[in-house]
Amino acid sequence: MSVSKKRIVVKVGTSTITNESGNIDIRAIDHLCRAISGVENLGYDLVLVSSGAIAVGANKMRLQQKPQEIKLKQAAAAVGQTELMHLYDKLFGEYNRMVGQILLDNEDIADPVRSKNLRNTFDALLENHIIPIVNENDSVSHAEIESEKKLFSDNDMLSALVAVFCNASKLIIFSDIEGLYDGNPQTDPSAKLISRVEEITDELKSVASGSGSNRGTGGMITKLEAAELATSHGIDVLITNGKNPERLYDIIDKKKVGTLFVAREV
Ligand code: GLU
Repeated sequence: MSVSKKRIVVKVGTSTITNESGNIDIRAIDHLCRAISGVENLGYDLVLVSSGAIAVGANKMRLQQKPQEIKLKQAAAAVGQTELMHLYDKLFGEYNRMVGQILLDNEDIADPVRSKNLRNTFDALLENHIIPIVNENDSVSHAEIESEKKLFSDNDMLSALVAVFCNASKLIIFSDIEGLYDGNPQTDPSAKLISRVEEITDELKSVASGSGSNRGTGGMITKLEAAELATSHGIDVLITNGKNPERLYDIIDKKKVGTLFVAREV
C-alpha cells in the first residue's frame, strides 16, 4: 500500500517531556499538543508515539531514582501511563482534539491477526481525526523493557513500525539533541550537524555513538536503526530537538530542520 502524504508520526522521548528532576515538563507537553493540533488543523493526520510512562510513574510514586527491579518498572509504567494520558487528553481537549490510547508489544506486530486488527484500529482512529497516542505496553511486556536486543524498548523502533503500519509519509523523532552530528557534540565542539542523509551506511552508524539521557533509554544508534526501517518503506525520517515542537510547522513547510533521512524509492 502506498504511503499517505497526510499521515505523520511524531515520536517524543522521555527526555523531551520530563525535566532534569524527572517531573513532567508541562510547558513542553502543552507546546507539543498545541503544535500537533495546529498541524492537524492544516489537514494532516498525526500519530503520537510517546515515551515517559516509567519516568512519570516513578516520579509520582516518589521513587528516589529510576526503578531497576522489573516489577517496579512495570508498576511505574502503569502509574505513569495513566498520568500521561490524563494530561494528553486534557491538553489536546483544550485544542478541540480527541485522543485514543494504543499500547503495544512485539506480539501485536508479529501476529498476523493482531497486526491486521491493529492496522484497522489505526485507520479507524485516523479516518475519524482522532490522534492515536502509542506506547509500548510496558506493564505487560517486560521482555522488551529488559531485552538485550530491545525490539522497541526505547520506542524509536516502535515509532518506525507504527509509521509503516499507518502508511505514514513522515516520521519525526523529537529528541534531546538537534540531530545527527559527524562527531560527538558533547565532547567535540567542532562536530557538525548532518542535515541530510541519503543512505545509512556502517560508517554513519559508527559515528552515531550513544547519546541517551538518564531519563530515556534510547541513543542515536537506535534512531538510526529506526530510520533505516522507515526509509526502506518510503518514509522520510526527521530527527530534531523536541524542546521546540513548533518546529513541526517548519518541517511541514520543508524548511531545513535537524537531520533528514531521505525515504528510499519503494
Ligand atoms: N516505553 C517506555 C516509557 O514510556 C520508554 C522508556 C524510554 O524513554 O526509553 O517509559
